[in-house]
Amino acid sequence: MSDTLDLFADPIDLTTSLVDVRSVSGEEAEIADLVERSLRLHAPHLEITRSGNSVLARTNAGKQRRVVLAGHLDTVPINQNFPSRREGEILHGCGTVDMKGGDAVMLAIAALSENARHDLTFVFYDCEEIEAERNGLTRIQRELQDWLMGDLAIVCEPSNGTVEAGCQGTMRIEIRTTGKRAHTARAWMGRNAIHGLGEALRRLEAYEPRRPEIDGCHYHEGLQAVRISGGVAGNVVPDEAVLTVNHRFAPDRTVEQAEQHLREVFEGFDVTVTDQAAGALPGLNAPAAQELIQAAGGTPVAKLGWTDVARFAALGMPAVNFGPGDPTLAHTQEENVPVQQITGCFDVLKRFLLD
Ligand SMILES: [Zn+2]
Repeated sequence: MSDTLDLFADPIDLTTSLVDVRSVSGEEAEIADLVERSLRLHAPHLEITRSGNSVLARTNAGKQRRVVLAGHLDTVPINQNFPSRREGEILHGCGTVDMKGGDAVMLAIAALSENARHDLTFVFYDCEEIEAERNGLTRIQRELQDWLMGDLAIVCEPSNGTVEAGCQGTMRIEIRTTGKRAHTARAWMGRNAIHGLGEALRRLEAYEPRRPEIDGCHYHEGLQAVRISGGVAGNVVPDEAVLTVNHRFAPDRTVEQAEQHLREVFEGFDVTVTDQAAGALPGLNAPAAQELIQAAGGTPVAKLGWTDVARFAALGMPAVNFGPGDPTLAHTQEENVPVQQITGCFDVLKRFLLD
């Protein structure tokens, strides 16, 4: 391993070099050092700073708009898929999809960014694959928030090279029923809390999720029971039961509106919200977002899962996912990326930001 990367090399080769540096969450010092050294050597026009094992770099050319590109440097634990392995036009290995292809594209753009059309900020961060409190973006937002601000955020997570806009919110609730214990031999003396959930389950079964269109993106909501618990013993009428329900809601609803909706759906039941995260509106009408979509050439699609895009949206910025790789292969042992997708994403960002 050489001690710097050639950032002017083909982004495919850059991806390979990044994949071949182990960087499981919490162990990103080596890759962060490598990224920082390489940027300092090949992109002296950038202002560079460090926050833990995150590396931040930006241009300060006084342009009218600023675009923020973000990519995490960590991977999930290695699973007999390290180092990388090239088979024809496919690159295999841990991090090829999630998300060192995206990181490589960002580095290649950073090296060429001296005369970019917009001011650019590059955020290479640590600990994305683990709990939110340790996520590098949480720390950066606390300590260096101005480094995250701009007119558009592009999170270069795998999106099959299409622009995925916004993301759906998520909310978990518990529906609790109570009854009265009794011996099952004299069941009429009690009240069965598990039976009490029957009506809630019927409402779930009959539920028709919304499929709203926002800025041309089609979202698809969900309302699913994900856990059920209750029961005392094999001969006791149970006096308590709990049904856990997960709601995925389109970003035209706030967390408060989603909660209000669930309280209406389960009217008459005891409902407690246990977990929530707001979605992110696609914000595709913003001028910088329009330019990106034009450069990408396709139709943007809705992001259905929750990603760090929502953090940027919470800062009031339009934010999209755009990166090489099939997201359904992320975190799998057979993680692999067709190398043309890396080239394709690089070409789109080059058209959008540099040409
Ligand atoms: Zn990822």
